Amino acid sequence: MLNGKVLDGKALSAKVREEVKEKVNAFVGRHGRPPGLDVILVGENPASVVYTRNKERTAKEVGIRGALHTLPGTTTEAELLHKIDELNRDPNVDGILVQLPLPKHINEERVLDAIDAGKDVDGFHHVNTGLLSSGRSALVPCTPIGCMRLLAESGISLDGAHAVVLGRSNIVGKPVAQLLLKENATVTIAHSRTRDLPALCRTADVLVAAVGRPELVRGDWVKPGAVVIDVGINRIERDGKFVLVGDVAFDEVKEVASAVTPVPGGVGPMTIAYLLSNTVDAATARLSRLVRHKGVFLEAAR
Ligand code: NAD
Repeated sequence: MLNGKVLDGKALSAKVREEVKEKVNAFVGRHGRPPGLDVILVGENPASVVYTRNKERTAKEVGIRGALHTLPGTTTEAELLHKIDELNRDPNVDGILVQLPLPKHINEERVLDAIDAGKDVDGFHHVNTGLLSSGRSALVPCTPIGCMRLLAESGISLDGAHAVVLGRSNIVGKPVAQLLLKENATVTIAHSRTRDLPALCRTADVLVAAVGRPELVRGDWVKPGAVVIDVGINRIERDGKFVLVGDVAFDEVKEVASAVTPVPGGVGPMTIAYLLSNTVDAATARLSRLVRHKGVFLEAAR
């Protein structure tokens, strides 16, 4: 039996944050201000409160100006759209993130599409999802980029490999499948209606699990030597305590896989690191576009 290598997302995310810090310093040197990330939280969902605070704090740690806008759960869709419009127009705001899920009375699609596509650091705007699916450069959702960086770290060659993605959400499943395709993997997207999931998974050289079902993927679902990326975060009660587990039965899978991500400490920390990376990339791209436009304008005015 192969002995599974644990892909340490915590250590790798620290490396990514160092890379971001360097890019932030270069940005400050060029533009005289730090990139800015504005996070909007509507309501008091306890997990969302923790996530948004972490995002704001980690942004500040790498030198990004982080701001958290907390709006009450009774905020109307029109009020939220007004706030987004204000941030879209603010020249010092480079990245806007609306924390999901939103309260039921607010239409998520309308809100995400209201964000300036160039400031959409979550990569959920239809322009960015369209660019990604046509293989063009775009702001790409953070969790999928994190998965790809972990795969790169595992050393597996994706060219021609069979990648099975469990889950077809817009946040993880679909974009990670697009990125794998871009790297020339042969990609199968599986979901809740897929037949004989264990047999399909056993054909995978790369298995990405993003379903939100605790420890669904068992050791005997995994081809020996495959690389397994566990995106799931599930809070379950075990031996009278609440613990976090992924969508993969880690102890079983690590005996079979050549590499596997743990939960916590795998994909989770990578997501936040790539949010920061997207922010500095969005800032750099936007400001260089503005300079180009100004150049064209000056050219025309001459
Ligand atoms: P989602 O609920 O939007 O989508 C789940 C997908 O899984 C659906 O496409 C569904 O068809 C599929 N599915 C459900 N049950 C299945 C089953 N029994 N067999 C096969 N497919 C099944 O979820 P999501 O937003 O994509 O998130 C998935 C998981 O990843 C959740 O646990 C979430 O908390 C976690 N997550 C983690 C991060 C991170 O940073 N680590 C980021 C986003 C999501």
